[in-house]
Amino acid sequence: MPAEVIAIGDELTSGQRLDTNSAWLSQRLGEQGIRVLYHTTVGDDLQANAEVFRTAIERADVIVATGGLGPTADDLTREALALATGTLLVRDDTALDHIRALFARRGREMPQRNVAQAMFPEGSRPIDNPHGTAPGIAFEIAREGGSPAHVFCLPGVPAEMRQMWTETVAPELARRGLVGRIIVHRRIKCFGAGESDLEAMLPDLIRRGRQPTVGITVHEATITLRVSAEGSSEAECLTSMQPTIETIRQCLGTLVFGAEDDELQDSVVRLLAERRQTLATSEWGTGGLIAGWLGDVPDNERVYQGGLVVAGEAALGALGELAAEDVSSPGDPLGEAVARNMARHVRERFAADYGLAVGGFPVTGHVQSNPPPFYLALATPRDTKVRAASLAGHPAIVKPRAAKQALNLLRLALIHGDKTR
Ligand code: AMP
Ligand code: MG
Repeated sequence: MPAEVIAIGDELTSGQRLDTNSAWLSQRLGEQGIRVLYHTTVGDDLQANAEVFRTAIERADVIVATGGLGPTADDLTREALALATGTLLVRDDTALDHIRALFARRGREMPQRNVAQAMFPEGSRPIDNPHGTAPGIAFEIAREGGSPAHVFCLPGVPAEMRQMWTETVAPELARRGLVGRIIVHRRIKCFGAGESDLEAMLPDLIRRGRQPTVGITVHEATITLRVSAEGSSEAECLTSMQPTIETIRQCLGTLVFGAEDDELQDSVVRLLAERRQTLATSEWGTGGLIAGWLGDVPDNERVYQGGLVVAGEAALGALGELAAEDVSSPGDPLGEAVARNMARHVRERFAADYGLAVGGFPVTGHVQSNPPPFYLALATPRDTKVRAASLAGHPAIVKPRAAKQALNLLRLALIHGDKTR
């Protein structure tokens, strides 16, 4: 039961816009157990579009097209599909009423050319588009001596396309019995170990052919374990992957900080909120990255008091955060004592429970073979801890890695603090 995804538009074939719809649709089809074998991209040309539809109808059982459903002269999907199937375009009055009503709601008269959007190849049906003018097209096309081809045309506007897929096309595929075994993925997010060390901690889980499968990817030092299970329903998949997820959590302990779209800052905000505690930050090397990330976490205001971003020693001096006696060894502005004082001062200044600081470090354009350490510090209600951390790694990810190391220092202190209390 192979499927084909067709992306239509000159903006795609000319390279002006990236075709993200095909990727999204292929993921959804895959989750429904339908294998996508072809991606076709075609510009706004009637003959070329008709040819693409003809070919797809011959070689694929499920065909999902996006784009070309607008009211303008370059929107040719309707005509191309009629041409490819040798059908006439006929008007659908319900669809026309819907389009008219939509213009009326916006206080405008429907332009004549929008009538084109209510024209459908004979034998096809409109797919509702609650938020846009262009309805989609569902067309079951009989094929000689075999099962029919199932064609769905959706608009190019990603938000409209996604809603119509979820509300109409996906349930329709299930109704027509086209859905295979579905695949469900769950992601476990980890930080604090290298990819291969982490793999070594998971006995035999990341083995080819194992069910459910466990895959491992790393992005800027955050490791994602993706558990995938195949089954006839979502509930069945979730049940079958549960023991694997529990094993992973047991083996990795506090290396696991969250699931799905969680980032370290989400975990930190959650932990602080549970404890009704607050945080302030002071950043030198990471230039405000931590403050930016925390600011994007929903409801961060309850726990995040704010932060300082400093660009160097002069700024620290001006802020009163760096006195001569603070510098452990004279002339060493990247030192341990500086980070310690940054954390302590910012905690007091913002009247927060925790002060988290990242000291200074140089970012060079190349990988350093023997980089100097830099310092992270955490001032807590009890004491101030300082950690030396390494700058090793590609220069492009030095800053996010340092920011994550700092957030992880706080995360672990919050978790371990519970144990010693
Ligand atoms: P259309 O339905 O062809 O009028 O497309 C409407 C708009 O949706 C285009 O101007 C693009 O901005 C966007 N769009 C169309 N096709 C795609 C695609 N395959 N991926 C991402 N965006 C798209
Ligand atoms: Mg277009």
